[in-house]
Amino acid sequence: MRYIPTIGLEVHLQLNTQTKIFCACRTSFGDQPNSNTCPVCLGLPGALPVLNEGVVTRAVQAALAINAQIHNISRFDRKNYFYPDLPKAYQISQFNEPYCTAGEIEIHKADGTAKTIGVTRIHMEEDAGKLMHSENPGIAESYVDLNRAGTPLLEIVSEPEIDNADEAVLYLDKLKSIMEYIEVSDCNMEQGSLRVDANVSIRPENQSKLGTRAEIKNLNSFKAVKAAIEYEIERQTELLEENQKIVQETRLWNALSSKTVSMRSKEEAHDYRYFPDPDLVDVILTDEIIQNLKSKMPELAHHKKNRYIKEFQIPEYDAGVLTADKKSAEYFENVVKAGAPPKKASNWVMAEMMAITREKFCGLDDLFPAIDLAELINEIESGRISGKIAKTVFQEMVETKKKPGKIIEEKGLVQIVDQSSIEKLVDEVLAENPESIESFKQGKDRALGFMIGQVMAKSKGKANPPIVNKLLLEKLAKS
Ligand code: ADP
Ligand code: MG
Ligand code: ZN
Repeated sequence: MRYIPTIGLEVHLQLNTQTKIFCACRTSFGDQPNSNTCPVCLGLPGALPVLNEGVVTRAVQAALAINAQIHNISRFDRKNYFYPDLPKAYQISQFNEPYCTAGEIEIHKADGTAKTIGVTRIHMEEDAGKLMHSENPGIAESYVDLNRAGTPLLEIVSEPEIDNADEAVLYLDKLKSIMEYIEVSDCNMEQGSLRVDANVSIRPENQSKLGTRAEIKNLNSFKAVKAAIEYEIERQTELLEENQKIVQETRLWNALSSKTVSMRSKEEAHDYRYFPDPDLVDVILTDEIIQNLKSKMPELAHHKKNRYIKEFQIPEYDAGVLTADKKSAEYFENVVKAGAPPKKASNWVMAEMMAITREKFCGLDDLFPAIDLAELINEIESGRISGKIAKTVFQEMVETKKKPGKIIEEKGLVQIVDQSSIEKLVDEVLAENPESIESFKQGKDRALGFMIGQVMAKSKGKANPPIVNKLLLEKLAKS
C-alpha cells in the first residue's frame, strides 16, 4: 500500500513594532529579564489593554501581500489556559472572527512547476512570556521572564495542501521572503521571530479523506521543519503498515535524537473556553483604511523581478535570484546605480559574491560596499585590469576590505596594453619554444594556447590577452 502525506503549517510571526500589542513596553530582544513589563503585560488586576495601531497596519500589509481577504470587522477573544509564562491565565487572540482569511502563497518547485498553497487565515495575538530552566544538574529551578509577554504576533495558518517536506520548506521560505520584503517582521528564526507548527497526516493512496494528523510544535529552523516532517511521515507509515491507529496528538521535535515525541493527546487537549475580550472594542478596518495601506505597500519580489527584466535587461533567471532576498536586490541596484553595467553586476553578485555569502552565512554588504564592486567592474570595463586579475583583486577586497583601485596600485596589477612591451615577451616565448612553433604549423591549436599561456605567465597575468593573441598570430604567420 502506498501512502500520501498531507501537511498544513501554522506560523507564528513576531511583528517588528517598537512596543507591545496592548501596552507601551518595549519589544527589544535580549534585555534584562522582566525589565520591559508594566501592569498590562504583567496581568495585574484592573489594568486595561489598548491596541497598538502599528500592529494593525502591519497585519493588514501582511494580508495584502498574500492577496488575502481582509475583514472590515474583527474581534479579539480570550483563550483561557494556565501556564506560568501567562500571568493573566488567558491569551488575547482572535478566534471566531479573525481579521484575515483566504490568502495564497505561490511556491516554485525544483522541477520548474509552480504551485499555489492556500492560507486559511491570519489572526493577531499576543505572545506569552518565557520560562528558563536551571542548567545546573540536580537543581530544579525555573525562572519566568515576561519581557516577551505581549509581543505582537501574527498566526498564519495554511490549508492542508502541502505534499511533502520540501514543499513545506519552499512555502516557509517564500512566506519569510514576503514578510521581509514588506518589513513587518525581522523573521529571525534563531531569536524566535518566526516559529512553525507542522501538522502532518498520511492517507492510503485509494482514500480521498485526509488521515488523522499529528501536530509538531515550535520548530525554529527550516532544517528542523524538514527533518521533523520526514520523520513523522515515516513514523505514521510504519504504524499504518502494522495496522495500528494514528492518534491525534501534539508532538515535540527532539533535534538531538532526530525524533518526535508525544506531548499530549487529543483527550488531554485544552478546552480554551474562548469568549470575546470585554476590555477591547472590535477592530474596524474601513475600505478607506485598507486602500490607504495598499497604496503605501513596498514593491514585492515578483514586481521587482519583472522590473529588473525590463529596466536592466537581465535574464529572468538572474532577476529571480537577485530579488529572492530584498537585501541582495538592494545591493545589486546600488552596484548598478554606481555605474556598473547591469549584466556584469548581476554576474559578479550571483556567482562570486553569493558563493562566499553562502559559505560565511553573511550578507553581501558584510563583504564590501556595493560601490566597491561597481569600481572593480569599471576597472575591467575600462581595460585597466583583465577579468582574470579582477578575480585576484576581488579576493583581496573580501579579505582586506580595501578599495579595488588601491589594491591594483599597491600590487602593480594594471594591465599591460602597450604593444612594444608585450611584443618583447612574445619574442622571448617564440625563441624559447621552437617545437611549439613547429606543432602550430602542423595545425595543432593547443600549441598556440600554450604560447599564449607562456606570455601571460611572463607578464604575471597582466598582459592584455587580445593583444597577446594578435601579436603571436602575426609573428607565427611570418616565421
Ligand atoms: P489547531 O488549533 O487544532 O492547531 P488550526 O485550525 O489552528 O487548528 O490549525 C490546523 C492546521 O492543521 C492547519 O494548518 C491545517 O491545514 C492543518 N490540518 C488540518 N487537518 C489536517 C490533516 N488531516 N493533515 C494535515 N494537516 C491538517
Ligand atoms: Mg495549532
Ligand atoms: Zn507592558
